Amino acid sequence: MKLAPARGFANGFEWLVDWLYPPRCRACAGRIHGCDAEYFCSACRSQVQIVAHPLCPICGRPFPDASGDDHTCGICLTREPQFTRARAWACYPRQELEEHPLRQVVQKFKYGRKVALGKPLGRLLALGCRDFIQGGNFDLIIPVPLHPKRLRWRGFNQSVLLARQVSRAYGVPMDPFVLVRIKETLPQTQLSEEERRKNVRGAFALNPARSVDGKSSGESGVVKFPYCNSGCDNGDGRSG
Ligand SMILES: [Zn+2]
Ligand SMILES: [Zn+2]
Repeated sequence: MKLAPARGFANGFEWLVDWLYPPRCRACAGRIHGCDAEYFCSACRSQVQIVAHPLCPICGRPFPDASGDDHTCGICLTREPQFTRARAWACYPRQELEEHPLRQVVQKFKYGRKVALGKPLGRLLALGCRDFIQGGNFDLIIPVPLHPKRLRWRGFNQSVLLARQVSRAYGVPMDPFVLVRIKETLPQTQLSEEERRKNVRGAFALNPARSVDGKSSGESGVVKFPYCNSGCDNGDGRSG
């Protein structure tokens, strides 16, 4: 899959900005030759592994063998997930010490408070989830809320910035106030999949003051966004 959408006349202004201010790679800060819509230089982009079929239609884990059709993975067969479907758009290696362009950008965004990275990451996420969103007939996008203490510490909710781009790309409404986080949780990055499940158990509740037109967040037609950090765990990757 190509990372960037095709450029059209409507993007003329962005082309002019790129020409006046030559774009830099969001990972290594190297010069991007050409338009900025891919967000990575060619060297970094070649390391970004886009999730492709065949994959598990439930959790979205890609299968290492590129042949064959989508089918339910062993993990979902063994233990049915609590969600209906999940998807990731790209993977990066699990090893925390390994420098990977996508990991670098995600960490700059989440922990380095580089709010400006929300737009490129959100656009890439939207592009990578195109089939999933367009085939899902979703009514509402709900970003995963932060606990108020965490929100004060970070200053922004990264999920809202990403979900906003997906909402704009597909015209699906986004409401960040439908869910509330009622429990402080540990950062998920160092936890195993089982520990992550326990960590977020009972952490969220529906906001009683918020109507979603008769739908509850557990019904199909509502997509909760993003980080799904364990979508690629059967290989050596992690979703980004
Ligand atoms: Zn680069
Ligand atoms: Zn699965």
